[in-house]
Amino acid sequence: MTSRSIKSLLSVLAVAGLYSSGSFAQNVQSTEYLKEMKRIKAEYSKGMKQIAAAKNGNEWDERYHQLQGFMGSPGPSALSNQALCDHLKTIDANELEYVGSIIESDATSKSLAGCRTALLNKIQFNLKNRHASFDMESDIANIRPIAFEIREVDENRDRFSYEGLGPKEVMLSFDDGPRASTTPHILDMLKKAGVKAAFFNLGSNALSNKKLVSRVLEEGHILGSHTFTHTLMMASKVRCGKISYDQFLAEMISGHIGVYNAQNYVDPFFRFPNGDADSDMRRNVKELGLKDFRWNADSHDWFYSPGVISDYEKRRQTILRTFVMELKGEKVVDNTGHVIFQEKPASMKDRGIVLFHDIHQQTVDTLPLILNYLADNGYKVVLLTSANYRHERSTVVEQADQYMHSHGISMSQILPPRTADGQVYDSSAFKAKVDFYSLMPQLTKPELVPVGPEVCAMEAQVRALQVNSRQNADEISRLKKQIADTIRIRTANASNE
Ligand SMILES: [Zn+2]
Repeated sequence: MTSRSIKSLLSVLAVAGLYSSGSFAQNVQSTEYLKEMKRIKAEYSKGMKQIAAAKNGNEWDERYHQLQGFMGSPGPSALSNQALCDHLKTIDANELEYVGSIIESDATSKSLAGCRTALLNKIQFNLKNRHASFDMESDIANIRPIAFEIREVDENRDRFSYEGLGPKEVMLSFDDGPRASTTPHILDMLKKAGVKAAFFNLGSNALSNKKLVSRVLEEGHILGSHTFTHTLMMASKVRCGKISYDQFLAEMISGHIGVYNAQNYVDPFFRFPNGDADSDMRRNVKELGLKDFRWNADSHDWFYSPGVISDYEKRRQTILRTFVMELKGEKVVDNTGHVIFQEKPASMKDRGIVLFHDIHQQTVDTLPLILNYLADNGYKVVLLTSANYRHERSTVVEQADQYMHSHGISMSQILPPRTADGQVYDSSAFKAKVDFYSLMPQLTKPELVPVGPEVCAMEAQVRALQVNSRQNADEISRLKKQIADTIRIRTANASNE
């Protein structure tokens, strides 16, 4: 076969969709490649099925991160990366969008190096088409102004919560970013409504998107931290021996220092992933001069992805409806008599700190509807903050800075290690490289008492019941009380010994 006829064969195959990369000739005959492709396809679709079957936030988060782990290192050879790329090129654009934040993330910058740009272009093309048909641009243009106030909260509080808000007052908060393809739209929308929000960034994402961090600050939003790599359920994992307490400290402190390092500024606020924390962790956060920033209304933006509701308009209407029900806090019963929403206490009704995520496209899609709902129904957006907001550095930042100067070390030595090629943070190798107790001597060391397998088993039971969290609310709170009692008794016994 002449090279000319090979070329024309390739172009025929390209038209037929059978050939899409330069390595065709060597790969198509390689049984090794075909075998690897089969494995990759199976692993990937298993991961997607597991995500789709998740019935609560923690489970969804856990499984999405598992898929991210797989896509970051799909296999031992370059062939594995090639097979993953080739497979992703064949999947539907909507599904591709669903894993878009994985494709964009540091975690896959090596494995998807050969196809990342093409995949992101496909996602962008899909988004543009959809926006054209749903007129997203005019949605943004039609965002109406909302009443807004910046409110200082008592400086002596350890935590920030809905208690700082009155009736018909809402605080908006966005976790897990920043992300290049979504965060800028959210900032545009907030600007159009004339309101400010709180952004709880991951250290890793802040360092990869420094310009966006600068924009968040310039536009007057709160910039807090949310760990370095978003280790989930940290209190539960420490209790059950899945991670060490030092790993929690490393996640929290490196996350805060990481966000600080992006633009030499961070507000003294920290938010626990999943809100999962114990009293030792909360005490340490306080000792570092940080406030524990909570939420009481979950918009469920993370849940209603294209994988759960494929229709664009139905998806954003569902998120809007869920947001409104969460905010109202009234009891809602469906037409079969099941309670979908339990009634909230009067002090939590029709107000709240709302949790969103600036890394999901469905959040971008729905935010114009949510902002206009607030504008048209007499709500006020309030930015709760402390007196030293934008004025002084928190203890943890001050101490990290002093330590670095006196020991002649750089910021990178406090952050998690990077991989050998220096491209990504190696979260699997996450461990403290400095002794945080000598760096920050005010930190109280926890008296770690092994809680025993029964507590871990009860926690697993709680997670299973959260599949129908609203219907199982009574049983969940009974188990949580039992868990707390068991831990308290064990801790008391341990200190008596
Ligand atoms: Zn989060």
